[in-house]
Amino acid sequence: MSNDRNMSNGVNISNDYDIAIIGAGPAGMSAALVAAESGATVVILDDKLRPGGQIYRNVTQSPLQNPEVLGVDYVKGQALVARFEQSSIDKFFGASVWHVGDNGEILFSHASETKRLTAREIIISCGAMERPFPIKGWHLPGVMSAGSAQVMLKNDGLVKDNAVFVGTGPLLYLIVAQYLRLGVKVKAVVDTTPVSAYKRALPLIFSVLPHLKMLLKGVGLLNEIRKSGTPVYRFASKVAIEGEGEATAVSFYANGQMHCMAAEHVFLHQGVIPNLNMTRSIGLKHYWCEQQLCWKPELDQWCESSVPSIAVAGDCGGIVGADAAEDMGRLAAIQRIYRLGLISQQERNERAKFSQRRLSSFNTFRRFIDRMYQPIKQHRVPVDDQVVVCRCEEQTVAQLKSGFVEGGSGPEELKGLTRCGMGPCQGRQCGHTVSELLADWRDERIEKVGYYRMRSPMRLLNLAELSLFTQVESKGTSGQESQHEN
Ligand SMILES: Cc1cc2nc3c(=O)[nH]c(=O)nc-3n(C[C@H](O)[C@H](O)[C@H](O)COP(=O)(O)OP(=O)(O)OC[C@H]3O[C@@H](n4cnc5c(N)ncnc54)[C@H](O)[C@@H]3O)c2cc1C
Repeated sequence: MSNDRNMSNGVNISNDYDIAIIGAGPAGMSAALVAAESGATVVILDDKLRPGGQIYRNVTQSPLQNPEVLGVDYVKGQALVARFEQSSIDKFFGASVWHVGDNGEILFSHASETKRLTAREIIISCGAMERPFPIKGWHLPGVMSAGSAQVMLKNDGLVKDNAVFVGTGPLLYLIVAQYLRLGVKVKAVVDTTPVSAYKRALPLIFSVLPHLKMLLKGVGLLNEIRKSGTPVYRFASKVAIEGEGEATAVSFYANGQMHCMAAEHVFLHQGVIPNLNMTRSIGLKHYWCEQQLCWKPELDQWCESSVPSIAVAGDCGGIVGADAAEDMGRLAAIQRIYRLGLISQQERNERAKFSQRRLSSFNTFRRFIDRMYQPIKQHRVPVDDQVVVCRCEEQTVAQLKSGFVEGGSGPEELKGLTRCGMGPCQGRQCGHTVSELLADWRDERIEKVGYYRMRSPMRLLNLAELSLFTQVESKGTSGQESQHEN
C-alpha cells in the first residue's frame, strides 16, 4: 500500500509511526493493543495523566477506598487498563492534541512545549462530551453538568451534598446511584424524560431482549434511586435555573403544576454527543444523525472516514457506549494493519467477525436507548431571549437573533457577527444549539445549515508552547521505556 503523502508544505516528512491513536479510552486502548500485537509501531496520546478515558477514568488509581461502588462496569476496566499499561506502545499522557493533518502530521502540547510526530495511519478516539443544556440560568455559578460531578468523584473522590440532578439519560441515573451508594444526600431528581419517549421506545422492546442484562442494569439504577427515598419528579419540562449572579433554585413543570425548589447546586445532563472538534478540523465529512440528534463523521464498516488513512472509533464516531467503543477500536485497528500490509484481506475479515457481530447487536440496543432518552426540544433549542447560548462569549438568544437579522444566517457568519463559538471551548458548548436555532429561524433542515468551520489549533495553547517545538521519533517500542508523562 503506497504512502504518497510524505510531503507537508513541500517538506519531506518521514512517517515515524505506523499508527497514531488519539485518546486512550476503551476505543483507543483496544485499537492500540490490536495494532501493537500485529507488529505495527504504535503511539497513543491522551490529554489525561492516565489511561481509561471517561468510563475508566482513574480506575487503577481510584481515590475511593471501594471503587466497586461505582459499579461493575467501572472496575471491569482495570483489566483493560492494566494490559494496556503493560504493553510497550509509545504513550504520551498529559498530551493535548491540537492539530491533525490529513498528511499524517500530529501537533500536540506536552510538557509545556509543542511536539510533532507523524504516522502513516491515524485513529481518532477522542470520545464524547455532554450535550449542552441551554436553559435559563445554566450558565450561573452553582450549575454544572452531571458528568463533571462524576469526574470530580472519579478523579479526587469529591462530591456535592444536597444537589439537585436534572435531566435524562442512563448516565444521569448512574451518577445519582453512585452518589447514593456513597451515602451522599441527593436533594431531588428532576427527570425530563417525557411520556412520549416511552411510547416511542416501546415498539423496540422486543429487539432489545437479547440485551436483557443491560436493560435490567438500567432498571436497577432507577430502583436504587426509588428505594433511596430521594424525591423524583418525572416527566418534568420547562426547567429553568433561578438566581441573580448564582443559582438559588430550579423551577420546572411536573405532575400538573409548576415547582420552584431551592437549590444551590444543580447538576444537568441530557445525554452525550460525539466530541467533534478534531474530526471537523481535519475536514472529515459529517452528517446529521436524527436518531442521536447530533452530527457524526461519515464512517464505513471499518470506521474509516472520508480520508482513508484516518479512522474514527468509539463515541466520537457516534454514541455507542464503552463496550461497543472497544469493538470499534478493534475494527479500526484491524483495517489499519491490513492497509499497512501487516495482514491479508482474508485474515482481516476473519479477525473482524467477532467485533462486527457484537457491534451490530449493540446498535440495536442503542436505537432503543436513543429513542427512550432523546432530549426534548425545549431543553435543546431555547426560545426565551434571555437564555445564554454561548457561555464563553455570554451570547444570548436575543443577541444571536439580532446577528441573524444582520445577515448571520449560517453558523460561520453568525460567529463572525456575534463571536459565538469563538471562546475557550471553541464552540463545543454552543455548536449544536446554534445549528438547531438557525434551522428553526430559517425553517430549513439542519443539514442545510451545517456547523461551525473548525480549524487548528482546535485547543487553546499559549505562544510559549508554540515557540518550543520538538520532533518526536518512534522508539520502535520493543522493551524500551515508552511512557511519556507531562
Ligand atoms: C463526562 C462523561 C462521563 C461518562 N461516564 C460514563 C460512565 O460512568 N459509564 C459509561 O458507561 N459511560 C460513560 N460515559 C460515556 C463514555 O463516552 C463511554 O462510556 C466511553 O468512555 C467511550 O469510550 P471512548 O474510548 O470512545 O472515549 P473516551 O473514554 O471518552 O476516551 C477518549 C479520550 O480521549 C481524550 N481526548 C479527547 N480529545 C483529546 C485531544 N485533543 N488530545 C488528547 N486527548 C484527547 C479524552 O480526554 C479521553 O481520555 C461518560 C461520558 C462522559 C462525557
